[in-house]
Amino acid sequence: VVDELNFHARVQAAIRDSELRRAVEYGTGLGYKNRRLAVYADGIQHGDAVREQAAAIKRHALRNLPDLLIKAEQTLTENGFKVLWAWDANEANSHVVDISRKHDCNLAVKSKSMLTEEIELNSALFAAGLEVVETDLGEFILQVGRDKPSHIVVPIVHRTKQEIKHTLTQTIGMPATDDTKEMTQYVREYLRKRFLQADLGISGGNFVVAESGSLCLVTNEGNGRMVTSLPPVHVALVGIEKVVETLEEYAALTQLLPRSATGQHMAVYTQIVNGPRRSVEEDGPEHAYIIFVDNGRSKMYNSIYADALACIRCGACLNACPVYRSIGGHAYGWVYPGPIGSVISSLFRGMEMNHQLAYASSLCGECKDVCPVMIDLPRMLLNLRNNAVESRYTHWLWRLIIKGLARISVNPDLFRIAGSLAFLGGANFVFKYLPGPLRGWTKYRTTPKFAQKSFQSLWKARQKRGKNG
Ligand code: SF4
Repeated sequence: VVDELNFHARVQAAIRDSELRRAVEYGTGLGYKNRRLAVYADGIQHGDAVREQAAAIKRHALRNLPDLLIKAEQTLTENGFKVLWAWDANEANSHVVDISRKHDCNLAVKSKSMLTEEIELNSALFAAGLEVVETDLGEFILQVGRDKPSHIVVPIVHRTKQEIKHTLTQTIGMPATDDTKEMTQYVREYLRKRFLQADLGISGGNFVVAESGSLCLVTNEGNGRMVTSLPPVHVALVGIEKVVETLEEYAALTQLLPRSATGQHMAVYTQIVNGPRRSVEEDGPEHAYIIFVDNGRSKMYNSIYADALACIRCGACLNACPVYRSIGGHAYGWVYPGPIGSVISSLFRGMEMNHQLAYASSLCGECKDVCPVMIDLPRMLLNLRNNAVESRYTHWLWRLIIKGLARISVNPDLFRIAGSLAFLGGANFVFKYLPGPLRGWTKYRTTPKFAQKSFQSLWKARQKRGKNG
């Protein structure tokens, strides 16, 4: 009940925050519009064919996931990566701590990775005495401002330019400016020193290609390339679902990802890492590790929600969702917001904590329509609602009412009587101000007036008039 209250409290706070709503509406609106222009730049038919191809690639990879993981371990190892496996967040974090101790690392530079947010890697490294610097511009601003990401792709979408200016002037001494280029340049110079001092680079991974043993990263700022090449040790943390079979498949996906995420035809940096520095190469880390993280994914793989593992984290469903666009990401209460976040948060963290998220959707279907890999998110949200009811997480009064409505709906006599009573019972008053836990329904909604006569009685009267006339 506490979590249920927290969810509602967070939503209320977000709705009341006009600056947040303005920032989120602007950022998501831009992403939504640009995605459409980029995905369908060569026509609707072409765009949908590319989506179908991407969806098929991910389903193929998921169907063969166990074999592809074994193959990936083999080829990655042949390329010089040390491959580790982590069952949960604790094990993944311990691996990184152990690696940092083994190589005597003190300062880590990190590129953007939702998985590391999911497992709370920074806190674990901090507790182990390591300094971690986020190097993605948005993540860096959040880190120095002690804030959390609120979007899968644009972590700082909830912040306005003035708020960012305030954070940077107060925390890293940036001279006050309203010019975003000057702000970026200041952070760039600030981070450059940290890149050169760092002895550990931490990244995520957008894809792993099993046939070639490659780690693939898609970024826009070049920080991913610095993280994976400047420090002497590189660790990549990757969810087990990120494996695809061939480079051709990766090529198809890597074209659709930036189109769906930001409306770019290609990301500025598309990087394929094939292990640590070779003896003939001048640049690159001496040691490269890949940690495959499960953390609930196997459980999802063996459930009716397995298809959610096809997600390539483009964020398009967030930009399209009217609920996300109204409340932003923090209201969802965990690192993954929006429609895909509602699904995976409930599965990764348990229904007990997150069953309310299944209702944070209007079920308009737009999330499914924009998804590059065609995940049926509305169907999953409906299934989660069903699970929430079956597991009795919903309010008893709500369950009672739904049961009553179901009984009335299948009994024509009861249905007729209920219709008449609804009208006679003064729908204008009763349904305008529902009591107790049902108050939420009438707080922001105007209940339509019940018709004086039912469709059946109008139809009968019409038939009668027809006969008589
Ligand atoms: S569910 Fe689809 S639209 Fe949403 S983030 Fe994942 S791939 Fe993108």
